[in-house]
Amino acid sequence: MIHSLVAPRQILVGGGSLARLGEVLRQFGFSRPLVVTDPWMVSSGTIGKCLAPLNAAGMAVAVFSDTVPDPTDAVVEAGARVLRDGDFDVLVGFGGGSPMDTAKAMAILAAAPEGAKMRAFKVPAQADRAALPLVCVPTTAGTGSEATRFTVITDTETDEKMLIAGLGALPLAAVVDYELTFSLPPRITADTGIDSLTHALEAFVSRRANPASDLYAREAMRLIAPRLRQVWRAPDDAAARADMMLGATLAGLAFSNASVALVHGMSRPIGAHFHVPHGLSNAMLLPAVTGYSLNAALPRYAEAARCMGVAGAGDADQLAAAKLLEELRALNHELEVPSPAAWGIEEARWNALLPTMAQQAIASGSPANNPRIPEAEAIMALYQEAFRG
Ligand code: NAD
Repeated sequence: MIHSLVAPRQILVGGGSLARLGEVLRQFGFSRPLVVTDPWMVSSGTIGKCLAPLNAAGMAVAVFSDTVPDPTDAVVEAGARVLRDGDFDVLVGFGGGSPMDTAKAMAILAAAPEGAKMRAFKVPAQADRAALPLVCVPTTAGTGSEATRFTVITDTETDEKMLIAGLGALPLAAVVDYELTFSLPPRITADTGIDSLTHALEAFVSRRANPASDLYAREAMRLIAPRLRQVWRAPDDAAARADMMLGATLAGLAFSNASVALVHGMSRPIGAHFHVPHGLSNAMLLPAVTGYSLNAALPRYAEAARCMGVAGAGDADQLAAAKLLEELRALNHELEVPSPAAWGIEEARWNALLPTMAQQAIASGSPANNPRIPEAEAIMALYQEAFRG
């Protein structure tokens, strides 16, 4: 069996590491960065933390801050024009998954002939080329995008959240500084935290899991699971924030090398059609999809429960897996994750879109990595089960 393992060339981890961003760029010989971020980072002044080390290193810095949550092809096209028209030698993705993914897609699109569309790169296409290298600085914990070979872009014509995969989306380096996450409000802390737990769990049960992705996934689950409630209740807990941040990056490395599975496959259409934040739509689906999949990979789910600290070494697999499911339901309850119905989604519209969402989920390829591979009918049934939580 041959496994392909990919990772950024350098990952700087730790509180205060952002101060070294200028050194990281300089080490690779860069001096003309284009920082890609979102409007909140600018209005809140947070962008200053990213610009300060670049300015201190004497770099000519430009900023593109027109990114949107769940980035669209239109924003990527605008960003790619800025990239092409300017004189830059590196991109810096600063923010949550949305700005980082925008930066990745800008680099991929700008490497293609003018007029190319983002949808040309969606899986199963390979997006291996990028116009410029990318250094990522995540501010959520998180998508793990700083360490993955993926970007997720919405096609505004079809309302499809497209998965785009390839070496062109893999950052050259990342600076992972948990101090940036103190300002996250509880809702975003919870949603992004459950997203990272989902990455680790899905990578661990994925049919494409391998010994290296397992190492990352196990450690990510160990770090994240005991800390989720802590960062929700005590946002200033530095040790908890640090574990969540490292866990999110390790979870990114895990799923970048093993792929995600059914939860993510079903989650993207919910984000695209109903604009539910990505982590939240994962959380809405996680218990139902785990319950559906459990018996197809019982030893794996049981080991995940042990890594997360919710089952003991002496628990038989069936019991450990049942404890995992119980924990995922308890987490959703305690972290106040609403069901799609409670979030305000109209049931008639949800039901009308089920065939489209099921078809889009399957087309993304992610459900085929699941321990139990569903047909469209089963996916629609799971959407219905998740609707009221
Ligand atoms: P996000 O980037 O959309 O940000 C959500 C909100 O949080 C924004 O309003 C942002 O301004 C705010 N925010 C970010 N950091 C903050 C901070 N430190 N303090 C206060 N507010 C802050 O959210 P996200 O969940 O990080 O990213 C979601 C996107 O990432 C989705 O589009 C999803 O599909 C994608 N994603 C990509 C990958 C990948 O491998 N490329 C993996 C998972 C998810």
